[in-house]
Amino acid sequence: MKIILLGPPGAGKGTQAVMLVEKFGIPQISTGDMLRAAVRDKSPMGLKAKEYMDAGGLVPDEVVVGIVRERLQLDDCANGFILDGFPRTVPQADALKLVLSDLGKDLDAVISLTVDTEALVERLTGRRTCSACGKGFHLSFDPPAEDGSCSACGGELTQRADDQEATIRNRLDVYLAQTAPLEDYYQRAGLLKAVDGMQSMQTVQEAIQAILQDA
Ligand code: ADP
Ligand code: ADP
Ligand code: ZN
Repeated sequence: MKIILLGPPGAGKGTQAVMLVEKFGIPQISTGDMLRAAVRDKSPMGLKAKEYMDAGGLVPDEVVVGIVRERLQLDDCANGFILDGFPRTVPQADALKLVLSDLGKDLDAVISLTVDTEALVERLTGRRTCSACGKGFHLSFDPPAEDGSCSACGGELTQRADDQEATIRNRLDVYLAQTAPLEDYYQRAGLLKAVDGMQSMQTVQEAIQAILQDA
């Protein structure tokens, strides 16, 4: 199962990816998570990426393509993978095509999650992540333990620096300008499957699994 989860910030890509990892035992490849880890480690790549991420812009294509190329070569991708947050530009999609053809692999489907703009803002402002185990929450839609800690491990929840309203609006504009054209791109390739992302997390997951059964 080799798939891309496509959709604007807050559409539920990460949430759905975690459920698919559990179901299919294939890895989630989140360029956002990998870039945030590089920023935390203060690696040269992280230092370079941070300014773009803080502003809600995109990190240069060659940086993210390099990360994904290396990641896809690891053994755990042999039976498939879930790309979450990549590709985000047409040049990234073209580069992915080359990387996959070098590896002798083909995509099975591109799942496009659609969600209204105001719902995206609400999802992103309420998003929290456990600093200890990485589990995701939403203050209203998937609330943590009553004392505000992680319900899985008791860890402290944090809010991403770029989940502030001003940065969110910028990220949504960037999505429309740079990433939305990939819907047409993958439609033309016969790979695009749209899923109504306004439904509950569980219903969205069921819709994705139904699509993957036929893919
Ligand atoms: P979200 O899940 O809210 O869409 P991500 O965690 O995927 O956010 O990405 C956070 C930030 O990391 C983006 O705003 C961007 O700066 C950077 N980033 C992640 N993936 C890519 C990518 N494929 N190309 C360029 N920048 C990226
Ligand atoms: P993305 O990875 O696309 O940026 P996330 O999976 O991080 O999106 O989801 C953004 C926020 O919205 C999280 O706080 C998550 O708990 C919440 N969320 C995800 N899917 C749904 C849904 N179907 N309904 C309501 N809230 C959701
Ligand atoms: Zn936790």
